[in-house]
Amino acid sequence: MSLSKDFVTSCLTGVADPVRGKDLVSSGALQWVSACDTYASIRLFMPPEAGKGVLQQVAQLAHTKLQQVAQRNGEAVDSLIVEFVDDAGTVVHTARFGGMVQGTAPAKPQPPAGSAGHEPIPGLEKSAKPAGQHGLPGVRSIIAVGAGKGGVGKSSIALNLAVGLARRGHAVGLLDADIYGPSMPTMLGLNTLEQAVVAGRLQPFYVHGVKAITIGKLVDSERPLIWRGPMAHGAFKQLTEQTGWGELDYLIIDLPPGTGDIALTMAQTLKLSGAVVVCTPQKVAQDDAVRAAGMFKQLGIDVLGVVENMSCFVGDDGKSYEIFGRGGAEMMAQRLGVPFLGAVPITMSLRENSDAGDPSANFEGTDAPGVRLRESLENLVTNLESQAALAAMRSGAQKPVLTIS
Ligand code: ADP
Repeated sequence: MSLSKDFVTSCLTGVADPVRGKDLVSSGALQWVSACDTYASIRLFMPPEAGKGVLQQVAQLAHTKLQQVAQRNGEAVDSLIVEFVDDAGTVVHTARFGGMVQGTAPAKPQPPAGSAGHEPIPGLEKSAKPAGQHGLPGVRSIIAVGAGKGGVGKSSIALNLAVGLARRGHAVGLLDADIYGPSMPTMLGLNTLEQAVVAGRLQPFYVHGVKAITIGKLVDSERPLIWRGPMAHGAFKQLTEQTGWGELDYLIIDLPPGTGDIALTMAQTLKLSGAVVVCTPQKVAQDDAVRAAGMFKQLGIDVLGVVENMSCFVGDDGKSYEIFGRGGAEMMAQRLGVPFLGAVPITMSLRENSDAGDPSANFEGTDAPGVRLRESLENLVTNLESQAALAAMRSGAQKPVLTIS
């Protein structure tokens, strides 16, 4: 069973707006709804006179109503995220029900130190914060996805990890920081949508359960992006710090390929949970990936694991063809002493779904290659969740929980 936007909206017509009277839909409080499988997110506008207590009460009523109606209709609600925004579109409170990682506390932003000049993206206010390693307020875990070179499927893996995590009820952001070749506008189907900037803050697109921001929506897509170091630095800082992310369990950052300026800026400015390195099975690709892993280690960023993409081709008959060889990335991970997160096959559908801007379809395949793809992606997501939880324990943000039954 799957929740739909219309279903969630109709449930909210049964919840009173405590400030303006009427219900949450006819009062104009409901700004958007997103529903996917058994997970739903809603955004409500409430005037400033509604205090936190009232907001929490409204969220509770919305959750209870949704669960009651869903139960009557034989639907399940595993997770509901309710965001409240003010009239500038800034998220002022988030309430979540179910679907959360147990025992994690929001990362505490650490005071930034030092400062660095940069050129602002037109339309955005200049970042007030000086540079320095810190978390993003309300974001629990920041994970970068990198690769030694382009074309190995780094963006595809970053995107599918984000969508897969969101499908499990996590609140997920995706930052396309591949300033030299942003692919998310196409892969997420954003090409006809306009980037909104409210009160100097970028508003992420909410698509496929993920809040996404891409540099590709801020620059001319036909023009080559030639960035000097300080410009790249400034663009990255603005994309991370001046986006209205709200509360997130995970922010996935799709880095440019190689070992360049953006990775350096990221390491200097953000406190990451770790990085994922994507590579293909060939020996030459692994050499590049070893360099990328080395870069993360040098920058003091934990490598949470290696993903082998294009590990084999799966045809319509379900047969595997090991075009590039197989297992190289796993061996490389062993050599580097980092976890192997899993292998993703080449399938026609992954490429087609990327071109069509429909990554959710990668998790819904029913034919033989589609099922292999889906299982491989779910496996990646499970392994990343585990590695992120371990990273949180290492950093002291999460305490281990021992369950005896
Ligand atoms: P990168 O970010 O490393 O440059 P992309 O993720 O943009 O690579 O992928 C490059 C191209 O390869 C895209 O057209 C993408 O759809 C395709 N692709 C990536 N991984 C796969 C896969 N496992 N199966 C089929 N096509 C893939």
